[in-house]
Formats: sequence, structure tokens, C-alpha cells
Amino acid sequence: MENKVRVNGLTFVPYLTHDVIMKEVERVASEIREDLKGGDPVFICVLNGAFIFAADLIREIGMNEGKIAFVRYASYEGTSSTGHVRQLTGLTEDIDGKDVVIIEDIVDTGLTAVKMIDDLKKHNPRSVRFATLLHKPASSRTGFTPDYVAFNIEPKFIIGYGLDLDGKVRNLKDIYVIEEEE
Ligand code: 5GP
Repeated sequence: MENKVRVNGLTFVPYLTHDVIMKEVERVASEIREDLKGGDPVFICVLNGAFIFAADLIREIGMNEGKIAFVRYASYEGTSSTGHVRQLTGLTEDIDGKDVVIIEDIVDTGLTAVKMIDDLKKHNPRSVRFATLLHKPASSRTGFTPDYVAFNIEPKFIIGYGLDLDGKVRNLKDIYVIEEEE
């Protein structure tokens, strides 16, 4: 793990190591496996940020009958939410009558989650569950609570393990938090 990461003039410090992340990914995977018990769910990965979490999570869940689909939403500019959620890429997989598990990187205000669940329910799934790597309960503007959470965290800006700053640093294996001003 790097001591500090500098990107776009901001400094980030270590927050969650890859080993700690993988332990919680295993826990969440076993919860989902238990709840879906041998079905044929559709996992919906929310691009771009969730692609690394989704890749690790679905391999850990290990359900060969499951399918994966991708949707893309945007609400963030730089390090804060615009409060306006836009769908950039819609669903391509048929989810009619299916158990759906949305896989998201982070729930902050909850606005993206609520909009996404609303959009998906129009496609008539049997059930919709929501798994997130990170949840910032203190930032909620919706009262939305995910079904599966790897980490509840403070309302600070995070990068790494798929999460970006202006499209950069998604490659980092560990998670970093923005350095507090002294
Ligand atoms: P919400 O709609 O819940 O406010 O925000 C969800 C989206 O905002 C996430 O999918 C993610 O793209 C972005 N986001 C929220 N907090 C953070 C953060 O701390 N770091 C990064 N990189 N993105 C964030």
C-alpha cells in the first residue's frame, strides 16, 4: 500500500487494505449465496465504479446459473454529488420474473440507489436486492438502507478499488480517504 496518493492536486491516505476488503467481500458473498440458494439471479453491476467489486463478488458467490448485466449512472462531479442522477446506459438483460442483485460501489446520498431500483422495478423482476461495497449512512438524503454492506464508513471522499477521482485511480488495490486539512 502506498503511504499517500496524490491526484488532481488532492492528497489521499490509506483507509482499507486489500486484505480487509477481501474479507468483507467474502462475508457479503456468503450472505447473498445463502439468500439466493441455488437460483438463477441476475447481478447488475453499476458502472463505472463497481466493476472491480462486482468482479470479486460474483466470483466469490460462485453461482454458475447467475448472469451479469451492466447499467451506468452518473451524479458526481469531482468530489461531490450534484444531487441530479442521470442514467447513461440502460439494462440489456431480461429481468422479468428474476431475482436481481444490484452491485454498487458506494451509497452516499442514496439518490442513485433509489432511482435505479425505481427504474429496474419497471422491468418486473421477482425481487430486487442491493449490495454495496461502501455505505455512508450519515450522508443519506433518502433513508435508503442497502441489503448488503461490506463497510459502513464516515462521510468522507474515498478512492481506489474501482472508485475514482475524475476517472483516475480506479486501479488502486486498496482504498484511500481524502486527507484532512490540518
Ligand atoms: P449517491 O447517489 O448515493 O449520492 O452517490 C452514488 C454515487 O456517487 C456512487 O456510485 C459514486 O459514483 C459516487 N460517490 C459517492 N461517494 C463517493 C466517494 O466517496 N468516492 C467516489 N470516488 N465516488 C463517490
